[in-house]
Amino acid sequence: MRSQLADELSKLDTRSFSNLGEVGKRCRALILGAELHHELQKSILEGYRSLQEKYGPELSVAVRSSATAEDLPTASFAGQQESFLNVKGRENLIGACHRCYASLFTDRAIKYRVDKGFDHMKVALSVGVQLMVRSDKACSGVMFTLDPDSGFEKVVLISGAWGLGENVVQGTVNTDEFLVYKPFVDQVSNPIISHRLGSKEWMMVLDETADFITSGKAVVNRETPPEKRSQFILRDEEIIQLARWAAYIEKHYGRPMDIEWAKDGITHQLFIVQARPETVHSQKTHQPAFFTEYRLIKRGNLLCRGIGLGNRIVSGKAKILSEPSQIDQLREGEILVTGRTDPDWDPVLKKASAIVTDQGGRTSHAAIVAREMGAIAVVGTGDATRKIQNGQLITVSTAEGDTGYVYEGEAQWEEKVIELSNIKMPETKVMFILGHPDKAFKYAALPNNGVGLMRMEFIINNSIGVHPMALHAFDAVQDKALRQIIEDKCRGYPNKEDYFITRLAEAIARIAAAFYPKDVIVRMSDFKSNEYANLIGGNLFEPAEENPMIGFRGASRYYHPLYRDAFKMECSAMKKAREDMGFTNVKLMIPFCRTVQEAIKVIQLMEEMGMKRGDKGLEIYMMAEIPSNAILAEDFAPYFDGFSIGSNDLTQLVLGADRDSELLSEIFSPFDPAVMQLIAMIIRKAKKAGIKTGLCGQAPSDYPEYAAFLVECGIDSISFNADALLRGIENILKAEEKIKKVSHSA
Ligand code: PEP
Ligand code: MG
Repeated sequence: MRSQLADELSKLDTRSFSNLGEVGKRCRALILGAELHHELQKSILEGYRSLQEKYGPELSVAVRSSATAEDLPTASFAGQQESFLNVKGRENLIGACHRCYASLFTDRAIKYRVDKGFDHMKVALSVGVQLMVRSDKACSGVMFTLDPDSGFEKVVLISGAWGLGENVVQGTVNTDEFLVYKPFVDQVSNPIISHRLGSKEWMMVLDETADFITSGKAVVNRETPPEKRSQFILRDEEIIQLARWAAYIEKHYGRPMDIEWAKDGITHQLFIVQARPETVHSQKTHQPAFFTEYRLIKRGNLLCRGIGLGNRIVSGKAKILSEPSQIDQLREGEILVTGRTDPDWDPVLKKASAIVTDQGGRTSHAAIVAREMGAIAVVGTGDATRKIQNGQLITVSTAEGDTGYVYEGEAQWEEKVIELSNIKMPETKVMFILGHPDKAFKYAALPNNGVGLMRMEFIINNSIGVHPMALHAFDAVQDKALRQIIEDKCRGYPNKEDYFITRLAEAIARIAAAFYPKDVIVRMSDFKSNEYANLIGGNLFEPAEENPMIGFRGASRYYHPLYRDAFKMECSAMKKAREDMGFTNVKLMIPFCRTVQEAIKVIQLMEEMGMKRGDKGLEIYMMAEIPSNAILAEDFAPYFDGFSIGSNDLTQLVLGADRDSELLSEIFSPFDPAVMQLIAMIIRKAKKAGIKTGLCGQAPSDYPEYAAFLVECGIDSISFNADALLRGIENILKAEEKIKKVSHSA
């Protein structure tokens, strides 16, 4: 038999694979024509009997293959051989095992081994027989013991859909996704830092009528009913249980793992059904030596968006293909656009400079292969094959956070490669101004002392979108269409306030997790009324103001009847992130605090709302950004743990120059001596009062030399936008050097 197989395989045309179908068929026929060894049959049936004793005579099993060249740390080889589900009875079991062995020679597996340079005759295959988990009546999916995109190691990413797991692996559905913070999995009541509801279009179920031995198929795909699509597949306790197991499995193998899980819809039990090494990030060293920053300068119209993978930007011609056999149509450097992919597509994916698909989640086949090859991909766009024309010049960008974008035409962008290994940190703390939680895992790899400013309003805009009062006082929203939009947004959450609180807490937790245990200073919301009005339902709850920049904003809102209930929701979210999720590195900050009385009022109000300064280490900072804050700094100081200077508003208010006015842009300067004197005054007075000072305005990011002035004033920390951080560090180091020299010579 061995020599017959070798003989058949030697006839394979390994250049164009013209006879792959015939060779494969003959190899499989050789195996299927032979009888399975008697001893082997006997031990399979013995094993089956012991399963029957445990689970009853009627049990069904899954018969799965695992080849030695599969699941290596360097290549996943997923899905090359066959598996059979819901196998019942002794005869069928032996038949299924037999077919598994034969599947070592599926056309796809033969070709894959040739492509990867494996010797056919050295690859062995084992068959695993498992109790059939009835996930067709519940849900299933995969999980990684790290964030597969950034390689951030402290989280477990769980994804899944209703029904059997095939759709998740193949990327036929957009999955639900959950992120769990590993270090807290046994320590806090809620270590889940992200819930993301997927549309879960299809559910694969068992086809009880099919005779799999003749049809080879025992499953069918059904459309998921709408009410199931808007429900999360797992309860929080289940998510945490899975993450716990993932952490144990990773510990046991001593390396990041890629795991399949399933839930039985009859017994409601959870199972782990497979574990293999994670293939991308485990190959890399833990700390990246280089960091590449991309910045789009000019781009065309947005064509579509989806889940972005790979952190890069690529331009090229789009090639829309519907079958992997069309591989010849794809030229080197072209961008593949297709509905979805499976392992048959691997050679095509390898050739493409970027991949765009209609369907698929973060753990779909296309996503896994793209990561493995270091390619970039935008998956699950929903409509790429309709929105993009064949042959059209497009740009694919996955360097803008979790979301990937496809733009019309060839974009212009900048790439900066930064070496991280020898960066020395200054004494002054260097912190981030972060705009988007999606980038936190990536930025955390840069040298830093935490986050000095996270603007809550950015998060409300990006991950909530609805005015908090429209959620709190939903009954006051009369417009039917508007009510529907809000209802749709809140799908999957127990109530409207919970949607706001959970989404906000999770976005904050994601940043807090990325930087833990370093400080992450979150500023309570500071939209202006015109900006609040732009949120869904916002104009129902916002006053029309002549001068919103100096209007109903910051601290003045928090205790006002028009916003007080919304502020309470903000506080509840912070409490959830700090106490339920355990991120006590989250510190809070109050913006635009006009008077000392207002400071007292807000601090008292926060205490009433469960955010007591000093409780569980809670620090509360004040933005120093109004001239009154500088003039009365010593009077504000007792109520806060520190001041963070907002040079944007301070410049505007000292000079009386609207920060958004084009006409006044020459006047608007943080270098103006009046502004610099006030900043120096704030730092001096804060030091005297024994509280911390930082600066989180735009000035040091736009003018890194501004850092020197702040260092000379003796500031404790300076915050930068990510793209200005490294240059900022250099400038701070120089300034500190200079000060040391002067004090030595003095
Ligand atoms: C500032 O005023 O400098 C500041 C950092 O806050 P914002 O820009 O959000 O007003
Ligand atoms: Mg400000």
